[in-house]
Amino acid sequence: MDELIAKGAEMIASAQKILVFTGAGLSTESGIPDFRSPGGIWEKYDPSDFYFQKFISDEHARTTYWKMSREFYSLIKPASPNRAHLAVKTLEDHGKLLAVVTQNIDNLHQKAGNSPEKIIELHGTLISVSCLSCKKKYDRDEIEARFDSGIKVPYCDDCGGILKPDTVSFGQAMPQEAMEQSIRYAGQCDLCMVLGSSLVVYPAASVPMHAVQSGARLMIVNREPTPQDGEADLVVHMSVSEALTGMLRLLFA
Ligand code: NAD
Repeated sequence: MDELIAKGAEMIASAQKILVFTGAGLSTESGIPDFRSPGGIWEKYDPSDFYFQKFISDEHARTTYWKMSREFYSLIKPASPNRAHLAVKTLEDHGKLLAVVTQNIDNLHQKAGNSPEKIIELHGTLISVSCLSCKKKYDRDEIEARFDSGIKVPYCDDCGGILKPDTVSFGQAMPQEAMEQSIRYAGQCDLCMVLGSSLVVYPAASVPMHAVQSGARLMIVNREPTPQDGEADLVVHMSVSEALTGMLRLLFA
């Protein structure tokens, strides 16, 4: 393992423009479960209950959705960034970070102190809510207060439209600008670091491949194998916080 950490450190040292691509595995050590590991969200809930089409067409589906979303938000709100998030911040402090493209919806890159303009949230965020009709935005905690007062499903104050957290559900369009910007960054980086992602959720998982096709080196740090391991210059199957801490210790200690 030491050799892999040393190679990772060398790859970071020789890179000038790193694109960090993160998934749920980055945040498990902050107490937020991922979706696919044992004990993850999909062992508890049925993904088919969370399709966008169902959400907009059925009040019962909205009730189930909000129940799951509230449970998830109760973990996310108090969560703190862990050593892996802080390592990504260190890359920015040393002028090496081009951008962070995250699939996470937990706001932890922002809490770790990365510049907001360097963070692309491909799947949105759980900390705000919008009306699907008039697009009015709400702070999540304002909506949580409504639940606490007894309602089961919230609707827009202005137009009565359906409210939904600003996350991308199955079957819902990706934020186009975020996706396009991610692909642009993938074309500009010299190293793409995939951290804590199973790389099975598309189109997000196409970003590292764009980087490789544009000539960047690829490092994947994930506990389990991913479908893109064969394309990577370095694959490290271990805790992402341990791996990154080890690499940065060699570089910046
Ligand atoms: P995923 O659940 O598909 O994969 C996570 C991967 O991380 C797994 O392969 C797992 O082995 C690995 N992993 C878990 N803990 C790790 C650790 N400490 N160190 C190294 N590897 C670790 O997650 P994904 O690839 O992000 O895609 C699923 C979707 O889940 C995304 O769309 C994302 O929006 C959503 N999601 C987000 C959060 C969050 O915001 N924290 C949490 C759960 C799911």
